[in-house]
Amino acid sequence: MSDHADSPAVSPADPEHDSTATYALDPALVRRLGATVAATSREWHTTYAPFTGQPIGVIELSGPADVARAAGLARAAQAEWATVPVPRRAEVLLRFHDLVLERQDELLDLIQWESGKARIHAFEEIAHAAMTARYYARTGARRLGAERRLGMFPLLTRVDVHRQPKGLVGVISPWNYPFTMALSDGLAAIMSGNAILHKPDSQTSLSALYGVALLREAGLPPDLWQVVCGPGPVIGPEVIDRVDHLCFTGSTSTGREVATRAAGRLIGASLELGGKNPMLVLRDAHLDRAAEVAARACFSSAGQLCVSTERLYVADQVFEAFVSRFLEQARSLRLSAEIGYGADVGSLVSQQQLDTVVRHVEDARRKGAEVLTGGGPRPDVGPLFYAPTVLTGVRPEMTCFAEETFGPVVSVYRFGDEADAVSRANAGPYGLNASILTGDARRGRALARRLRCGSVNVNEGYGASFGSIDAPMGGLRGSGIGRRQGPEGIERFLDIQAVATQRVLPIRPVLGLSQAAHVKTMTSTLRLLRRLHRP
Ligand code: NAD
Repeated sequence: MSDHADSPAVSPADPEHDSTATYALDPALVRRLGATVAATSREWHTTYAPFTGQPIGVIELSGPADVARAAGLARAAQAEWATVPVPRRAEVLLRFHDLVLERQDELLDLIQWESGKARIHAFEEIAHAAMTARYYARTGARRLGAERRLGMFPLLTRVDVHRQPKGLVGVISPWNYPFTMALSDGLAAIMSGNAILHKPDSQTSLSALYGVALLREAGLPPDLWQVVCGPGPVIGPEVIDRVDHLCFTGSTSTGREVATRAAGRLIGASLELGGKNPMLVLRDAHLDRAAEVAARACFSSAGQLCVSTERLYVADQVFEAFVSRFLEQARSLRLSAEIGYGADVGSLVSQQQLDTVVRHVEDARRKGAEVLTGGGPRPDVGPLFYAPTVLTGVRPEMTCFAEETFGPVVSVYRFGDEADAVSRANAGPYGLNASILTGDARRGRALARRLRCGSVNVNEGYGASFGSIDAPMGGLRGSGIGRRQGPEGIERFLDIQAVATQRVLPIRPVLGLSQAAHVKTMTSTLRLLRRLHRP
């Protein structure tokens, strides 16, 4: 996906002197958050609200010199932060947890204005960020301490493994989950003693900045988490060139570019990329419940969710019965451009995102797919709304067969037996998330093991794995490298060092033994260790 919402909408003049503009958000809030961006370019990005097309506010853009300065400040702060005892770091995360819940109303407004999503889906971000903070505050210490490992010979060799923070972690985050995708990787990184150099998507930088402001209020040293703003292709590489590990969340095409640059510097990169996620509805599924789960899995955040369902495979025996229930669900979803609860589906984020959805559906229709419901924009609700859409008869020559649409569009297919379902679910370049709906959870779990993707939800769409912070999350193949969440989500931010201490005997022929005698003794010792079941 291109850098659409992030394209530079630069006003030439200092907007603070533009008395004619009316912004959707309180200018004082925008100014307060904007002042924390590392930027001195005197060039500005105007963000527009997906719900109305009205300008939200302006943010000053960072230049390369700003990124370099921000990196320097963060590195200096990190040297001190790494010496802060782990329980004190955990307290900052727990205070952040409390602040996120306390300030949720203002934060939800901000997320809705910037992303255009329904408030109930914006709340998923609040919950996810809070749970991530609590999880790493409570479990981080376990991952950070030194550990003894087996030495070469029992008693003679002692091995200690130490973990050190990598230093400066880069975060490049997308617009679709503008709060938690901006914050949650960094929470594990700061818990493990690192600093952050962060570039959020320009469409949603205020949601990210609000989170950073809460972290500072919770006690994070002000320089430790630096935010730079600007177009991805310009500012992204500047970030990558200055960090010791990179967390990138975004499209697969940008992920490839980012990975190439990170590889050139020999730094690690965790890449959370796109998906074309399948859901399997088995013949024994409870159909009413399955239809409700499927509608949420396909249309939450208007389908702009990396783990949302875009391919629905339904067992032959229940195809008609399921599809009629599913269509009923899709048609009953309430679309609304309101700041507040009540809507089931929000807006797409940008004209480019709407254009992609229209292109995919029109291409499918032209090539013979049938639109069972939806199939067009909803300008009556808001300028960027699109109706929840269900397609059937989608074939490989259609763009939406294998390409990620990232909108409220799902293709429904029949399957014969489980082998057929598994091979079709596993087809294509991605491997992010899958879901299985069944009346027999044990059967669902067994089937899950045959799917080639990073997470599988049994009897839920995506929330069960996404919300279980102890469960690693990430993709296989074109969906990425590395994992966020769980122990794996913190280990990537640590350098590992083994310290081996040799005691009493050196590792060479001793006690006057010839080399041949030494080899014989060693060989006997190795045989003995094998018999003793030593690893
Ligand atoms: P995108 O790749 O266009 O942009 C993501 C981020 O990368 C933005 O901050 C952007 O400014 C920056 N960027 C753009 N070009 C860059 C470059 N050349 N170098 C460095 N940074 C650059 O993606 P998007 O369209 O904003 O986000 C939607 C995509 O993200 C979808 O494909 C979705 O599936 C994926 N996503 C994946 C996950 C996950 O956890 N797997 C989560 C959310 C979104």
